[in-house]
Amino acid sequence: MSNRILIPYTPTAEEALIITQHFSTHTDWTKAVFDSIKMNIISHLRIQQFNECCYCKYQLGFDIKEVDIEHIIPKSEYEVFTFKTLNLALSCPACNTKKSTKPVLNRAIVNYPKNGKNFKIIHAHYDNYSDHIDIINECVFVAKTSKGSETITFCELFRLITVEQRAKAYQKASPTLLHQLVVSLKNVDPQDKKELIDIIKDAIR
Ligand SMILES: [Zn+2]
Repeated sequence: MSNRILIPYTPTAEEALIITQHFSTHTDWTKAVFDSIKMNIISHLRIQQFNECCYCKYQLGFDIKEVDIEHIIPKSEYEVFTFKTLNLALSCPACNTKKSTKPVLNRAIVNYPKNGKNFKIIHAHYDNYSDHIDIINECVFVAKTSKGSETITFCELFRLITVEQRAKAYQKASPTLLHQLVVSLKNVDPQDKKELIDIIKDAIR
């Protein structure tokens, strides 16, 4: 099964005209005149993404505050792509906040890329998520590629894992999970560190 966005949103002629008339800089994104276009983008992408955040794959809430239209290439960096629908995907607000304006491209561009090669992180339209990250027990994110690893780092996906959840995941563990526990030691809060070390000790006993 494919787990990427297969069809980007296509603005209607009327919407395209509104964008032409009212958009000149990336800060225009928040203008009320674009509200209905954004609602249509969200409705379209919810179906394309099976209502999952493009980075953590958690289910998106149905309140407007629980879903963000994420600019894969930050609009502050390339404002020309603010309404480029291939650059838009739905994320949870937490992933969007964590990813923020971190640069996602390996090399500067003029035209929007036609594939995911130039991206450091998983591109929701170009990359199949499961080629890059495995999610174990719905809480442990295991990178399969450097893109997967960068996505985990960019969005701080380790934030979704409590020590208790890791322990549960470990009970059904695989060798890669132990490795992942060791890697995640670098990112864990100091208060969780001791507990995590105990889990690892237990795992290698
Ligand atoms: Zn998310």
